[in-house]
Amino acid sequence: MSGKAQLNFVIVGHVDHGKSTLIGRLLFDTGSVPSDRIEEIRKASEDLGRDTEFAYLLDHLEEERQQGVTIDTTQAFFKTAKRNYVIIDAPGHIEFVKNMITGASQADAAVLIVDAGEGIMEQTKRHAYILSLLGIRQVIAVLNKMDLVAYKEERFNEIKKGIGEFLDSVNIDPHSYIPICATEGDNIARKSEKMIWFEGPTLLDSLDLLEEKESAENKPLIFPVQDIYKVNGNMIAVGRVEAGTLKEGEEIKILPGGQIAKINSIERYLETNYIAKAGQSIGITTINPIVLKRGDIICSPGQEPKLTDKFKANVIWLEEQKFHKYQILGIRCATQETTCKIESIKKRIDSSSLELIQKESDILKNLEVGEVIIKTNKPISIESFNQVQELGRFVLVKDDNICAGGIITGRDRD
Ligand code: GDP
Repeated sequence: MSGKAQLNFVIVGHVDHGKSTLIGRLLFDTGSVPSDRIEEIRKASEDLGRDTEFAYLLDHLEEERQQGVTIDTTQAFFKTAKRNYVIIDAPGHIEFVKNMITGASQADAAVLIVDAGEGIMEQTKRHAYILSLLGIRQVIAVLNKMDLVAYKEERFNEIKKGIGEFLDSVNIDPHSYIPICATEGDNIARKSEKMIWFEGPTLLDSLDLLEEKESAENKPLIFPVQDIYKVNGNMIAVGRVEAGTLKEGEEIKILPGGQIAKINSIERYLETNYIAKAGQSIGITTINPIVLKRGDIICSPGQEPKLTDKFKANVIWLEEQKFHKYQILGIRCATQETTCKIESIKKRIDSSSLELIQKESDILKNLEVGEVIIKTNKPISIESFNQVQELGRFVLVKDDNICAGGIITGRDRD
């Protein structure tokens, strides 16, 4: 791909509301599908006596996923004159939450799709809530299958009102509401002639108006150590700079120990740089010999993240088996790993209806969200999710399986 800017987004919504068809349409209308592939799909659809089924375009992505080429998420690419786009497609909302929280995929924005005939359904609500939980504030709401409601403005307004009220309750204020027909391509890349009453942008224009995620470069340094390599007698600590910048000769602080060191060199694959920025994977050596290990967090003296063994978080319980308070779980936050307990569950919330199920609870059931206090076995470096995502999200682990994902909302004392 060219050096143009890139925006990653996810399409979410209730099953059968048209997610796959919309992805197929976006790829087709932006000329991102090879012509032999289009012909193949046209023929397959024709044999079934149907119009071209754009959802079939996703089938080869599905194959890739099943062959294990990509884990749990597939990505589709297209571009406009303004920038490159990556559609993150997760097979279900559990995978999406896991991927977002573990950092396997990162969405800057979301398109929420709602069938204009059916209106808001359980998964529409759950997905919207998850977007809100994950701090994805840039949302475009598309009302699909307008052909089934005779392209009527009244129906559009009615549904828009319902969605608006719900999204407002989860603190999401969509950039736009767009009436579309994914099968025909209305208001996706071209303005619909059947809905001339609609004066807003097409979906592509609306996407072009969104902002790419703010660069983490200007924030204080966060460099979680992933691994240590010994090369020619030198200890090289490798990892990804998650925030800020790192320069040769600069002083660093290592958490949780608190040692101060000076950077000797910054190594990147086949090159040596004097400076490394957020988003780059690098290795560093220090001037004074210092023992670094996986899970250490390198930061700038005076601008440290919080080191604590107790914090407030929102967790979503992803396992079938319900959770009981005081069960000991593993916790992973960036490269840090230890054990923890959920010390108290202040609120238990139904993730689709958003209803409060119970205050001061002892359990969390599958797909319930808990506002909790977590106590870790030893202090870890954290930030609130809104500040530095990488230190603000974590997963809880039972028998090596992820059983919950969470975001940090503050320190226990905050
Ligand atoms: P997903 O489960 O959200 O991925 O939904 P699909 O994309 O598989 O679509 C579900 C069904 O709705 C398929 O039969 C599509 O052909 C159909 N569909 C999708 N978009 C439209 C639309 O704009 N109009 C009509 N009439 N049907 C649509």
